[in-house]
Amino acid sequence: MTIKAITLSSGHGKYMQGASGIINEVIEARRVANQVAKILRGADIAVNLFHENDAKNATDNVNSIIKYHNSTQRDLDVSIHFNDFKEATAHGTETLHIEGDTQTRGIASRISRAISAASGIFLRRGDGTFARTTQVGFLRFTNRPAVLLEVCFVRNENDVRLYQENFYAICHAIAEGIIGRAITTQPAPPQNMPNHEPSEWAKTSWIKATAKGITDGTNPQANASREQIIVILDRLGLLD
Ligand SMILES: [Zn+2]
Repeated sequence: MTIKAITLSSGHGKYMQGASGIINEVIEARRVANQVAKILRGADIAVNLFHENDAKNATDNVNSIIKYHNSTQRDLDVSIHFNDFKEATAHGTETLHIEGDTQTRGIASRISRAISAASGIFLRRGDGTFARTTQVGFLRFTNRPAVLLEVCFVRNENDVRLYQENFYAICHAIAEGIIGRAITTQPAPPQNMPNHEPSEWAKTSWIKATAKGITDGTNPQANASREQIIVILDRLGLLD
């Protein structure tokens, strides 16, 4: 199957929280879904992205997610979840599919193996797949091939550490696992990369320019737009 379009949603909802342990399932599922969507769009895959924000009970929540998926044009439905178990020792990654469907089983295994290879998170059940029959509404009632990811366990310290340390690599791996081919665009750099310091050679001028109000002193190494340059020239009194 060539995948050109997918519909991707985060599990649970704003008011219908999922698992909570060291990390919160809804928050992380949304982060992963957003980043995977970004990577896939960069690889020219059409992505319909959905986060459920209204439902006040579990039935409405899952029905709303299913309804959104079924209203879209896509080759594959993907749902992002995190796993939970009362014993914090439970760990690893797995992707659910409908029992007996070899096509989605293959995709599920590809995604789980990619996550495991990118992060070191344990591959559950040998090949990272978990066949479900009727228990999972998302798999049962979405009307295209569907997979549901359980990225890692929210209560397992090692899983959470590997997930946090390898967040971008995991999202990249999920994107590649979904479409079944390598994506050569670079994964996004960590967003907390500090960019608040000017280069050594520019420091003196930067401090002077900030003191004179020519620049507001933020993002010293970012590009300037044409309008920003014009305003700087005006602040220097060169346009009057
Ligand atoms: Zn869940």
